[in-house]
Amino acid sequence: MQIGIPAEIIAGETRVAATPDTVKKLITAGHKVVVQAGAGVNASVPDASYSAVGASIVDATAAYASDIILKVQAPTAEEIALIKDGATVIAMFDPYRNANLAAFAAKNLQCFALELLPRTLSRAQNMDVLSSQSNLAGYKAVIMAADEYQRPFPMFMTSAGTVKPARVVIMGVGVAGLQAIATAKRLGAVVEATDLRPTAKDQVESLGGKWLDVPMSDEEKENAKKAAASGYAWMPGPQYIADQAVIVDKAVSQADIVITTALIPGRNAPRLIKAETVAKMKAGSVILDMAVETGGNVEGSVVNEIVTTANGVKIIGTPNIPAQLAAQSSALYANNVYNFLVTILNKEGQMVVNLEDEIQKALLITQAGQQLFPPKRA
Ligand code: NAD
Repeated sequence: MQIGIPAEIIAGETRVAATPDTVKKLITAGHKVVVQAGAGVNASVPDASYSAVGASIVDATAAYASDIILKVQAPTAEEIALIKDGATVIAMFDPYRNANLAAFAAKNLQCFALELLPRTLSRAQNMDVLSSQSNLAGYKAVIMAADEYQRPFPMFMTSAGTVKPARVVIMGVGVAGLQAIATAKRLGAVVEATDLRPTAKDQVESLGGKWLDVPMSDEEKENAKKAAASGYAWMPGPQYIADQAVIVDKAVSQADIVITTALIPGRNAPRLIKAETVAKMKAGSVILDMAVETGGNVEGSVVNEIVTTANGVKIIGTPNIPAQLAAQSSALYANNVYNFLVTILNKEGQMVVNLEDEIQKALLITQAGQQLFPPKRA
């Protein structure tokens, strides 16, 4: 098979879907790999590193004219036009918000959306792009916030006076939130965190953070337990939302740094911090809204901007934070892509998609002219 690695064309996307390491494995398995010139350059992978392992460096037209295309972002309309009829495409398709699903089907593309991975399967873990990318994003979010903050994170005892440690609040303790807690702790901050999932309490405490507890009714506890089985958040009722708002208001208004990571797959991000809470924060405090692209957890956050409020709080709205660590996020993403790709190829290198396979079935969004996402309810 010819496997193509095009350069990403969406603004701000610095990652690449294959590294010399994964390309080498594909070539060893008998495939031909073509890499668009410059595809890895923003992720610190020069063309020469791909050619050194046997890939051909080609132009965009040749890269898209492959049997299998590996990408970070879903192909745009412009890219779809270049892909050959019937090709297989593996990428993060953002399937809940992607307006091009019918166009992929019309071109007979066999598209696999990596975000749809059933995460609770242990054999899926090495293909889990949400985890690999969120982990790095949680780390980088703290570093970015620290960079905007005009004071240090750790406590300092100096002859000129004592410097208090920064107070950091993390909202949403999934993969990104846990890494944000760990990073802020390593930098010497005092950390508080909260999540809808009560099971996150032990994880927060094991990292040395303080759990911000929101009281739950019996019904909410039951909903949380059911959601825990799926690994994702549940939709809280009005009482929980009201109680959470009071707790968040108190913690956030006293915080120096706030990182919000709360996402709900397929829906807009929950609004967790209101402008009136931001208005109570000290000048120089920093908020980073990791959910800014899906509506934002923070009132007043703006995609691609650092907003400074009237009371001197900076709200960072950088989207796609994994792209800020392109070398490492590409390396992990490329491993995830490779680990999935080999499940749809047999030893002879032919495509063997198996719809009985839970992972392949979950990821497949278009095939043979059919749009398979969202899946029809039984
Ligand atoms: P995510 O990115 O979808 O969401 C981030 C966090 O925000 C989640 O913890 C969620 O509970 C929280 N959140 C959503 N709405 C909220 C609200 N209104 N208030 C407070 N918090 C809110 O989450 P994720 O990082 O993908 O992880 C979700 C869970 O899945 C975690 O428990 C993670 O450990 C688990 N996970 C399991 C596996 C596995 O079993 N192999 C793999 C990856 C993740």
